Amino acid sequence: MPADPLRSAVDQWRAAALAAQTLWVRSLGGTAIAAAAHARCDTLIRFARARSPFYGDAWTHLHGGHLELADLPVVGKRTLMDAFDDWCTDREVTRAAVDSFLEHRAHIGERFLGRHVVWTSSGSTGEPGIFVQDDAALATYDALVTAQLAGPGFAGCKWQDVVAQHGRAALITADTDHFASIASWRRKANGTPWLDMKSFAVTQPVPDIVRALNSYQPAFVSSYPTVLSLLAEEQAAGRLAIRPAALWSGGEGLSHSARREIERVFGCPLQNEYGASECLAIAHGCREGWLHVDADWVILEPVDSDYRPTPPGTLSHTVLLTNLANAVQPLIRYDLGDSVRAMAGLCACGSPLPAVQVEGRNDDVVVLLARDGTPMPLVPLALTTVIEDAADVHRFQIVQTASDGLALRLTDADRVRAAATAVAALRAYLDRHALHHVGIVLEAGEPRPEHRGGKLRQVVAM
Ligand SMILES: [Zn+2]
Repeated sequence: MPADPLRSAVDQWRAAALAAQTLWVRSLGGTAIAAAAHARCDTLIRFARARSPFYGDAWTHLHGGHLELADLPVVGKRTLMDAFDDWCTDREVTRAAVDSFLEHRAHIGERFLGRHVVWTSSGSTGEPGIFVQDDAALATYDALVTAQLAGPGFAGCKWQDVVAQHGRAALITADTDHFASIASWRRKANGTPWLDMKSFAVTQPVPDIVRALNSYQPAFVSSYPTVLSLLAEEQAAGRLAIRPAALWSGGEGLSHSARREIERVFGCPLQNEYGASECLAIAHGCREGWLHVDADWVILEPVDSDYRPTPPGTLSHTVLLTNLANAVQPLIRYDLGDSVRAMAGLCACGSPLPAVQVEGRNDDVVVLLARDGTPMPLVPLALTTVIEDAADVHRFQIVQTASDGLALRLTDADRVRAAATAVAALRAYLDRHALHHVGIVLEAGEPRPEHRGGKLRQVVAM
């Protein structure tokens, strides 16, 4: 549904102003960035204390008018979801109202209560989450994309190709529920009907995605790194023939070699982003292979298992996120669950923003063999989405056992409740790829985390 034109114009103006302000602050260097973050953090803490009954109660033992971030307790997803109605600072945002909005998939990317955007996450920690974003947060995420476009990451972007292809933008993603990527994409498309934006379901077989992209001829392509790697193989083999001017990736880790290969094949820059449902824009990649934290809008604290700061150069147990852009559902010292390594000092790329590397966001592409021996690659996000959608399970593992065999590991509780549905969904997905002969075994054991911090690799290839 097209958005209100006046509102769209205000949103555009707001994002443009924020982008200009962000670029200005960043041009002044690290001290200005830290000062901007500190001022925003102070405002957020005061607002949350006054308007969120959850934080008001959680901080009641902390005395004094001024609270510093480091004094505040850590919060987790389950605690916040349990306290949903008290957590939100907009008192009309209730779990019951959000649940009823989310029931309808036609609402993906539309305004909830006419003023917020809502998305959900499953997360490999197995805790589903519901995240509400206000106008200021959405404008900030847009502004951070604009700031990137003006940065060195897009220096190699062939703008004449953008014009030649009418700026068409393609997103290949999980689109069956209110996930952050599709919800924010549809929100943007609804608000800017003059832009040609199209999304494609990642759960389709790769040849179908290739056909659709050949017909659409996008100037920009955005997807998971594993999908872009597969598309680079298709392009190199001549089955895919597109001329994108720039590529975006997110949602998974991107290795140096994968990035180089994707950029070589498509002949254009690839911008990698580190975001989450909790904060769409946390950091963006640089040419040196690091992720630069949008530190004027996000505070990231790498910590050990006792939530003590982890020194630069050391892999953290988890990381605490404070999202300075979103006031409707304040996330303040939120345990995000990712292991990160902060860089000591400044990056060689010249960015004034602090740099991190993120571990443990690496699921595998599973390559099964069709009956005639043709390799059939399956994207990890597609495999996990079909099972989550059908069986409402969130902590599970798909492990490749042979070129024609998969094993599914569920928790004990899910095995009783949802095994038959999960296996049937996986079966149907394989059948759609003409992989009727591939066997699925339901394993007896629980899913097994391989990384510190308990993050699970959900899809493991041979
Ligand atoms: Zn850098």
